[in-house]
Amino acid sequence: MRLVVLGGPGAGRGTQCELLRRQFGMIWISTGDILRKAIAAKDSDGDCQTELGRQTHQYVEQGELVPDELMIQFMRQRLLQPDVAKGWLLDGYPRTAFQAEELDFLLDEVKQQLDQAIYLEVPDDVLMQRSTARGRFDDQPESVQRRIELFRECTQPMLEYYELRDRLLRIDGNQSIEQVQQEILKRLGVIV
Ligand code: AMP
Repeated sequence: MRLVVLGGPGAGRGTQCELLRRQFGMIWISTGDILRKAIAAKDSDGDCQTELGRQTHQYVEQGELVPDELMIQFMRQRLLQPDVAKGWLLDGYPRTAFQAEELDFLLDEVKQQLDQAIYLEVPDDVLMQRSTARGRFDDQPESVQRRIELFRECTQPMLEYYELRDRLLRIDGNQSIEQVQQEILKRLGVIV
């Protein structure tokens, strides 16, 4: 199965992906987690050890989007690795219409298809509350505010891309973890 999970900061993507991963043994690729890890790996001078960390830390710290070219190139390399040939769960990618198109080109190239894009719908005030309660380095209120803005500006319009292709499952993400999970499983046709 190949699934994309979409939603603003604090929408519950990580929590729901962890549950899906456990249930189906899927490989979960979270671009946010990969970037945060790359950025946190510092040498003794406090500089990022990896090229990825060096290229992206300013964007992530400020809640800005990492440029499309960089993300597309990174995901291309990741999705061509043999461990993900049978399926994946993408969390936080794609995030712009350009990334969504490029993902489809890549899938065409390797003769694979996306099954569904799952959108966790959550109002802005709840996104803000949940994110600031986590206290990660990129969860400072100004940065979260910017991430919410960018979500509405750049990611929300991309939902249409999946809707037009009949691939979008809109899920009310403003419910308990269990209720959201049940709704996802029902809409995927895994439970009745
Ligand atoms: P997330 O944990 O998915 O909310 O991502 C954390 C941060 O990583 C975002 O605020 C962006 O700075 C960066 N990021 C993650 N995924 C992407 C992406 N697909 N495109 C651009 N930037 C991204």
